[in-house]
Amino acid sequence: MVSEQRELTIVSLYPRDMNIYGDRGNVLSLVRRARAHGYAPSVVEVDPGDPLPEHVDIVIGGGGQDSGQGRVAKDLAARADEIRGLAADGTPMLVICGLYQLFGHRFVTHSGEELVGIGVLDVETRGGSERMIGNIVLESEEFGEIIGYENHSGNTELGAGSRPLGRVVQGAGNNPSDGVEGARTGNVIGSYLHGSLLPKNPALSDFLIGEAAQRRYGGFAPIAGTDETVRRARASAKRRPR
Ligand code: GLN
Repeated sequence: MVSEQRELTIVSLYPRDMNIYGDRGNVLSLVRRARAHGYAPSVVEVDPGDPLPEHVDIVIGGGGQDSGQGRVAKDLAARADEIRGLAADGTPMLVICGLYQLFGHRFVTHSGEELVGIGVLDVETRGGSERMIGNIVLESEEFGEIIGYENHSGNTELGAGSRPLGRVVQGAGNNPSDGVEGARTGNVIGSYLHGSLLPKNPALSDFLIGEAAQRRYGGFAPIAGTDETVRRARASAKRRPR
């Protein structure tokens, strides 16, 4: 008997304009992890003007400079209803840094330009004069310890409709004063942690894959473990000072 191929369609949102500090690593890692769990993932790259595929299981997008955000903000506004509909329906999504900001209500740049977001996450961001750069460690009730790298000048504040991804143990996070990082509404996660996020934190990949599998196939039985490469990467990221 030919074994059934359980497909998962991953939308990589704006890889041309929003792809910085290794954000592509998140897509590669998600694909590997999905394969390790026995799925057949395919990646559909969606740049401005491209249609979304008919069926979407996971949406993932990265960060970029303010100029790249300006280029994609208009396109994102044009497909806001479609993305809001997918989010409301429980589609798991991970958006990083620049796209995290645009999934909120607005991003006002340091020079005062306002980029309107799609409001899937209840956050607002203002560009600041200082950059928050370095390795970062979070503690999350759901995912345990999360390790990553941040590099942004935007200061993000959470509204009541989103909860943080985690509490900051080391680093800055959403802004230098609130002590929290990221935002979560339903199955949509926004975070400042760039392309090493999924490679170093398989629990987050498993969340995205698990929710997608649950929606499409009615269940998820994880079979991949956490390998030695991931353990080493996590240990070395924590050793390096900010
Ligand atoms: N321009 C935004 C900021 O610095 C996003 C940067 C990024 O995506 N790395 O806050």
